[in-house]
Amino acid sequence: MASVGSQFSTGDQGDNRRAFWRSGYSLCCKCGAKAIESKDHVAGCRHNGDAYGTTVFTCKECNWTTSFQYDDAAETYYYETSRWRQEAAEARRSGQTG
Ligand SMILES: [Zn+2]
Repeated sequence: MASVGSQFSTGDQGDNRRAFWRSGYSLCCKCGAKAIESKDHVAGCRHNGDAYGTTVFTCKECNWTTSFQYDDAAETYYYETSRWRQEAAEARRSGQTG
């Protein structure tokens, strides 16, 4: 049974999201327009007030869409990006030690 307000993913879930993340969620990686509209879909709220859900990003120019799941309690708000953040940090580190 699907519970009301479960977190979901929609739109482009491929590598384009990473470029989008790098642009600060502001540039469409399909047409390059800075016309991104974001909408939060709250999935739920914990007893301590932490909300979680999905933010859907849509380009108003070309209708490109992607989504990121968020969690107030997570170390990284859009926790799906924490892996990229880690990889970027590691790349920086290995560059310095070499
Ligand atoms: Zn676009």
